[in-house]
Amino acid sequence: MPFTTHSKKTLAEKSPAKKTTLKKPMLENTTAKNIDGRALAVHLKEGLIKRIDILKKKHNVRPGLAIIRVGDDPASQVYVASKKRQCKEIGIRSFEHVLSSTIEQKALLDLIQSINEDPEIHGLIVQLPLPKHFNSAEIIQAISPRKDVDGLHPLNLGKLFCGIEGGFTPCTPKGCIKLIHTVQKDLKGLKAVVVGASNLVGKPLAHLLLREGATVSLLNSKTKNPKSLCSQADVIVAAAGIPCLIQGDWVKKGALVIDVGINHLVDEQGKPYLVGDVDYEAVSKKAKAMTPVPGGVGPMTVACLLENTVIAVENLYS
Ligand code: NAD
Repeated sequence: MPFTTHSKKTLAEKSPAKKTTLKKPMLENTTAKNIDGRALAVHLKEGLIKRIDILKKKHNVRPGLAIIRVGDDPASQVYVASKKRQCKEIGIRSFEHVLSSTIEQKALLDLIQSINEDPEIHGLIVQLPLPKHFNSAEIIQAISPRKDVDGLHPLNLGKLFCGIEGGFTPCTPKGCIKLIHTVQKDLKGLKAVVVGASNLVGKPLAHLLLREGATVSLLNSKTKNPKSLCSQADVIVAAAGIPCLIQGDWVKKGALVIDVGINHLVDEQGKPYLVGDVDYEAVSKKAKAMTPVPGGVGPMTVACLLENTVIAVENLYS
C-alpha cells in the first residue's frame, strides 16, 4: 500500500512533561518521505477484522484481551483507554482490571494466574511501568507464554533470539519492522543501528533486523561516539528516550530513520507537546524516509498488540 503522509510503557508512558527550550518539529521544507504509521495501522486492522470474522464463523470464538493496570498513572490510563477503544473497533473483547498501587506483588500474581486459566481470555498484558515496589520481571514471567501478547515473557523473547518460530514478537519492534518494510523490503547486507537496548524495544528489534540479514549495531547509553556509528547506517532506529538525540549530521544521506521515542515536553508558553528521539526537521533533509512523532511507531505498536491477540486465538485452532 502507498504511504505518503505523515506519533511506553505497554509502553511509551513513562516520561512526565518537562520544561524545555527545544523547538517543536517543523514539517515544512522536508525531503524525506513520511512513513505514515496511522495509515499502516488502519490497513493492518482492516486485515484483522477479516481474520476475526473467520474465527467467529469457523469456531464461534471472539478474541478476548485482558489488560491489568496498577495505580493511577495518567499516561497509562490514556494508553489503556486507546487500546480498549481499538479492541472494540475491530471486534476484540477487552477486560480492564484496575488495581490500587498499594496492592502486594502476590495479589497481582494471583490475578494473573486466574486470567491465565480463563478460557475466554486469549491475550493478557500488564500495563508497564508498574509502581516501583513490584518485581516486574517476576510479574511478566507469571503470564502464560501462550497469552503473552506483549511478547515480553522470557520464553517468547528466547524464541525470538534463537530464531524459533511460533512465539509472540514484542509489539513495538514488530511495528518498526512493518514500517521499515513499507520503504525497504530487503534488508540483507544493510547496516542497521538501533539506538537503545531495552528488553521492550532495542534488543528484540536488533534480533528482528539480524533475522532480516542486516548487519546490526545495538547502542546503549555507554556507547562511545554514537554519531559516528549512526552516520554509517542505512537504517537507524532511535529508541533511547532522549529528545532529539539523533541530529541531522548523525544521518547519512538517503538513510531510513524510524523514531520510536516518545518524549512529553512543554513549550515556552506552557503547552505540552510530543517529540521523538530524532530531530525531525534536520534529519528529514537527509533521510530517504522517516517516521513522525506522533503518527509513526505509536499507532503500529497498538495495531501489533491487536494482531498478536488475534494470533493467540488462531494458535488455538491451528
Ligand atoms: P528504556 O529507558 O527502558 O531504555 C532506553 C535504552 O536507551 C537503554 O538501553 C539505554 O542504555 C539507552 N540509551 C539511553 N541514552 C542513550 C544514548 N544517549 N545513546 C544510546 N543509547 C541510549 O526505554 P524504552 O522502554 O526502550 O523506550 C525508549 C523510548 O521509546 C522512550 O521514549 C519510550 O517512551 C519510547 N517507546 C515508544 C513506544 C511506541 O509505541 N512509540 C513503545 C515503547 C517505547
